[in-house]
Amino acid sequence: MVDPTSDLDEDVSEDDAPTCRTCGEPIVDSPNHRVITWVEDGQVQSAHFCDEDCRLDWDGAQ
Ligand SMILES: [Zn+2]
Repeated sequence: MVDPTSDLDEDVSEDDAPTCRTCGEPIVDSPNHRVITWVEDGQVQSAHFCDEDCRLDWDGAQ
């Protein structure tokens, strides 16, 4: 017996998805997704980007 609602638990909704630091787009199941992490004030920070271009744009803005 197949529960048709079970798929909902497997998909990442836009509410739960990280958003790109550069363009603000929700990153859902993107193969080009980039994540960088660093430590700031003793806490691990992370930034998500939809692709390498957005990651480089963000670096250039710092
Ligand atoms: Zn982006």
